[in-house]
Amino acid sequence: MPQAGKAVRSLIVERIRLLRLLGRSSSGATLGLCAVHLLAAVTPPLTAYAASLVVEAMNAPRPALVPCVVLGVLLLVGEISDQGREGLAHVVAMRVEASVRSAVRRLALAPDGIGHLENSDFADDAMRSADRDSALGRSRSLGSAATGQLTIMFRVLSALASTALLAAYFPVLAVALLVVALFIRSVIRRQWTALAKSLDARAQDQRMVYYLSELAVRGAAEIRVFGLGDWLAGRFRGAAFASAAPTWRRMWPVLRRQWWTVLVLAVCAVAALAVPASAALAGTLPADRLVACLLLAVSLFAITAMGQEAFDIEYGLHAMRALDRLTDRFGTAAAVGVVPRPTGSAPPLIRFENVGFTYPGADRPVFAGLTLTLRPGETVALVGENGAGKTTLVKLLCGLYRPTVGRITVDGQDLATMDPHAWRARIGVLFQDFIRYPSTLRDNIALSAPGQQDDDAVRAALRAAGGDDRDPAFPAGLDTRLWAEGADGVDLSGGQWQQVAIARLLYARQAGRHLLVLDEPTAHLDMSAEADFYRRVIRSVSGTTAILVSHRLSTVRHADRIVLLRDGQVAERGTHSELLTLDGGYARFFRLQAEPFQEEHR
Ligand code: ADP
Repeated sequence: MPQAGKAVRSLIVERIRLLRLLGRSSSGATLGLCAVHLLAAVTPPLTAYAASLVVEAMNAPRPALVPCVVLGVLLLVGEISDQGREGLAHVVAMRVEASVRSAVRRLALAPDGIGHLENSDFADDAMRSADRDSALGRSRSLGSAATGQLTIMFRVLSALASTALLAAYFPVLAVALLVVALFIRSVIRRQWTALAKSLDARAQDQRMVYYLSELAVRGAAEIRVFGLGDWLAGRFRGAAFASAAPTWRRMWPVLRRQWWTVLVLAVCAVAALAVPASAALAGTLPADRLVACLLLAVSLFAITAMGQEAFDIEYGLHAMRALDRLTDRFGTAAAVGVVPRPTGSAPPLIRFENVGFTYPGADRPVFAGLTLTLRPGETVALVGENGAGKTTLVKLLCGLYRPTVGRITVDGQDLATMDPHAWRARIGVLFQDFIRYPSTLRDNIALSAPGQQDDDAVRAALRAAGGDDRDPAFPAGLDTRLWAEGADGVDLSGGQWQQVAIARLLYARQAGRHLLVLDEPTAHLDMSAEADFYRRVIRSVSGTTAILVSHRLSTVRHADRIVLLRDGQVAERGTHSELLTLDGGYARFFRLQAEPFQEEHR
């Protein structure tokens, strides 16, 4: 029994929390919604009363115009409030959802690192709490759960009012109908709860469905070239089936088990009709009261209806619990949305001291005992086979992950103890998969130093990167919108985009970031731009520490120092000529790239 009491208490607490979510919408829309709900709740009992007045007047007989008009107005008000309720509920739900989405975004941004974004528990809960995509057949949303809860609250109020009025004539019937209606509602709700739980458990499959639908757009070119349309459609169907089938399978037994509730409701309906009717036949209930009682019984019974809101609430409760889990884990993380400002400090001395690192959930370390010094102002090239850990090293350096063993120091201070925002304000990074911001050319360059817009510096950075804002590719110069999907936007070639991203990095450098990381900066450049890259870009940032990650040895050969990573450690280090003399792994790489051209030449 105490268990049952606890369950009811927590159910009530959760329902109240759902209602409190309405505060995330605008107060005008929420108050408007409450007002139409109130209208819709009082209309049925008032309609019953007005109908009885019409019958009474007709029986008297006396003019029934006024009660008829009142009845007509009430019916009209009922209809209008029904329509208004739907529209307003949609607006309120959308606003609550927008607020929940932004809360999830804040939670995702809160941690300093990015490990949580690769964690499937995080991804599942983020999807559960902020997911609504009716195009994919999912309608789970905290917004519709909150408005659904409001609907049910007013429906209960309306049923209680009808019960009270009916009880004036038939107290036993009224109470019995209410108890049965509430009981059946709770039985049906429990059954739907099981279905909501089953759907909730398929979050990963639902993410796959979403991923595949995105892929159809992002991978449109490759899918066409390889003729993968059918394959993709098949995978989509498979994933959609895997995510929905367990719930469908549970749905049939649930529906089958509901037969007796239909029977009980039918018996109650007969009783609701028969008891007042037999009283009328016996002459103890006038015709006008008979009409009122019948209408009140119908309005009371409306509470058993399991509309969409009942599902919305069950799904929404899972969404709310997912949001709670995210808040518990990340709600206390550092301030969100901190815009790093370049500090203008000198390039630092960085040491990787016996660093070991294993990705969360991975069984093999990427680094074991890595020791490396990056001296202020030098250009260090990182080379190594695919998977050697070059990108991971960059992420560790940016503080996006922390070493699992050993430490990284910056001018002698452990990076783990430094304010990550202040540290990142000293770094400029050109990632391999750099961002193509859907904004102007100016923003695409100047965003690396927010708040420091200087068009001359933007142009200079673009020129140093090998581009020019007077190029026909930029019809509106720095104002050219680089978003081809917009009406007035343009798209660039891969190489032009890379030049813009390099310019972004150079702009960050002139704004005071003195540690630059360039991950495969020449991957998309044409041969002449690639050949020119070192002289044009790296030499232009002399005095800055630059870390150059590249497979292209023509890009890295001029670096002050080249570091070859292998088996989680530094295997070789030295200048290009020192490493060639060493005749180890780097020399082998170099020959592999150089030989085909030399043979052609011979
Ligand atoms: P490189 O840049 O040298 O090609 P990476 O640093 O990208 O190598 O990867 C090093 C190793 O870490 C690889 O074995 C890769 O599979 C693994 N790895 C990279 N990112 C992750 C991740 N987010 N989670 C788990 N393992 C990862």
